[in-house]
Amino acid sequence: MYITIASTLFLLGTQIVQAETRHAGAHVHGLNRATIILENGTLQISYEFPAAQLNDNEEHKHEEHKHEELIENLKEISSIATFIAIPTAAACAQTGMHHTLRAVASTGTDDEQSGHQDATIEATLDCKTPSALTSLDFSPAFDRFNDLEKIEVEGILGSQSLSETVTAKKAVISL
Ligand SMILES: [Zn+2]
Repeated sequence: MYITIASTLFLLGTQIVQAETRHAGAHVHGLNRATIILENGTLQISYEFPAAQLNDNEEHKHEEHKHEELIENLKEISSIATFIAIPTAAACAQTGMHHTLRAVASTGTDDEQSGHQDATIEATLDCKTPSALTSLDFSPAFDRFNDLEKIEVEGILGSQSLSETVTAKKAVISL
């Protein structure tokens, strides 16, 4: 922990922009990230996770380089409901979904990252009653992925900004 703090402070001194970029792209197994934006009735959700989570077979947990297989598994996820339960009263219908798989950028110093990939799912939903979006439940993500430990959630819902971390035991965010 002390080493992490010292490194961060050092980076902040001279390379703020670079430090932030690295943080945004950090590839940590067990940690997922969700970004949620609600504007009028349009809900946009971006969900990012290490592609290793897509491997059902325990033996292959640490082999992330089978790109075609991962893309197939990723595209099987056709609804954002796989990760997040949205109140039915909000009457949200998914109108679009985009899947992305990309290699984790090599830092040149961290060889453990070679061959690892990040998966991103971006969903767009139209909500008839956005005022009924009073909570977001991430339990489905924890049910689906055994090795998921926490999800960092950031977002802007109308005039309200959101920044919380959820776990399996505390998977619901009240809005
Ligand atoms: Zn990885």
